[in-house]
Amino acid sequence: MRRLTRAGLAAGLAATLAGAGAAAAEPADLILWGGPIWTGVDAHPKAQAVAISHGRIAYVGTRAGAARLRTARTELLDLHGAALFPGFTDSHAHLDGIGERELTLNLEGAKSAAEATERLRAYAAALPPGEPVIGLGWIETGWPEHRFLQASDLDAAAPGRRVFLERADGHAVVVNSAVLAAAKVDATTHDPPGGHIERDAQGRPTGLFVDNAKGLVDRLRPATDETWLRRRLQAAFKVEARYGWTGAHFMSTPWAAVALMERMDREGAVPIRVYDAVIAHDAGPLLKDGPRQTADGRVTTRAIKAFADGALGSRGAALLAPYSDAPGSTGLLVTPPDQLAALYAKARAAGLQVATHAIGDRAVREVLDLYAAAGAGPADRWRIEHAQNVTWEDQPRFAKLGVIASMQPSHAISDLHFVPARLGSARLTYAYPWKSLRDRGAVVAGGSDAPVERGDPAIEFYAAVARKDLKGFSNADWHREQRLSRAEALKLFTSAAAYARFAETELGTIEVGKRADLTAFDRDLMTVPEAELPKAKAVLTLVDGQAVFRAPGF
Ligand SMILES: [Zn+2]
Repeated sequence: MRRLTRAGLAAGLAATLAGAGAAAAEPADLILWGGPIWTGVDAHPKAQAVAISHGRIAYVGTRAGAARLRTARTELLDLHGAALFPGFTDSHAHLDGIGERELTLNLEGAKSAAEATERLRAYAAALPPGEPVIGLGWIETGWPEHRFLQASDLDAAAPGRRVFLERADGHAVVVNSAVLAAAKVDATTHDPPGGHIERDAQGRPTGLFVDNAKGLVDRLRPATDETWLRRRLQAAFKVEARYGWTGAHFMSTPWAAVALMERMDREGAVPIRVYDAVIAHDAGPLLKDGPRQTADGRVTTRAIKAFADGALGSRGAALLAPYSDAPGSTGLLVTPPDQLAALYAKARAAGLQVATHAIGDRAVREVLDLYAAAGAGPADRWRIEHAQNVTWEDQPRFAKLGVIASMQPSHAISDLHFVPARLGSARLTYAYPWKSLRDRGAVVAGGSDAPVERGDPAIEFYAAVARKDLKGFSNADWHREQRLSRAEALKLFTSAAAYARFAETELGTIEVGKRADLTAFDRDLMTVPEAELPKAKAVLTLVDGQAVFRAPGF
């Protein structure tokens, strides 16, 4: 691990550029050809062949040009029609949660409270007596019961153990009566600031805890010891590589995970490129010592993650005017503004990037105001995560302040079934406004927010260009003028993702001298019919020129 300084970064860049010319004459370790190669460079978007030497791109151009770098030890990889792209990077992923999804009860796709409960029953029946259940992924929108899960559902399905089931948006958790009793939460317990306890008609907690209220029960979850954290990260790295992600921006990294990943990297156990935004309450060491990066550049820690509000689904997103379907509520600001301001000042002094979760138009405005007050400008590249509702007045401020909009296209297609009711038609004109933010000069980086969403680059790409759900449906008022072209969508997950982590000289396009992080899909995302996009599958994921995933038979 070394500290990152501006001088160090500049020296690294100079070495890269000096090496680029010389590298052209170096023999290739690997040559890829035989399929469309999309470079991500506007001036010359397509190539026939790429040659890789010592983990970096040594040549981009014609087959004949690449063939000149071939020696006896060069591996030739025929793409057989698969399409090659700069490595796809998920600009907003929760790696610990992705791993947990692989290793815990997964309630994604449950079509009713009854089905979720039945899945819990089957899962709990196979566990040793008394072992707690951690579940993820349930979402009640579209359920015939028209309600959240509650403690009584869980009590019947998993008696004799503690149960914690996270709602898919990560902003609410439902627990069973055993947890309620252990947490000593009852009708007399008040809602904490920035949180909400769901209650029945008699005022008794139903078992659902929203935003800051989750803390009342989360402290009873099984300890996150290192073995469990390592298992989750290993599972996540595997899933990410299989999907075709060469890198991920880990949002809300616990400090223990930074230390662990740095150690794992020394063991050669970090296959993808990780960029950490450390969760604010755990960021003491980072604020003290500043940015850090492992020797091989696999694990970089340079950002702090903060939260301004909740999410639209649970009506926790902070809005300027009341929710259209809950006139008494404008949502929640989950961190007091003076606390955010103090954090931002410290982050700026330590040379750190800030990434703040802000979904509602009020939260986005507040964060832009606070970034401006902290003196943050384009050189700081501070980020707003999600930016799902941004007023027309606030949209040009992203470019002016140099604030990056880190957006997750799949949210827009998951949310299109309930957000019109939450926001009403006027606010929908500026909901999920990735095209208008780009048109106003903002850098828009793309991610998935997995495990909130599936975390499949093909789905994210499709959502950005189609703005329709996976069945091809879109509301008449879902503002499809906010669609991106395919060339624009590609940038979200490649060059903009690289810029959002200060690595555009090293990553994000297929150009000589850059690191050979590349993704190949079984079909060409730039040309296949729109409906085919979500079916695309990664067949090859290369990081530093090494295959970290290769589809069977490829
Ligand atoms: Zn997130």
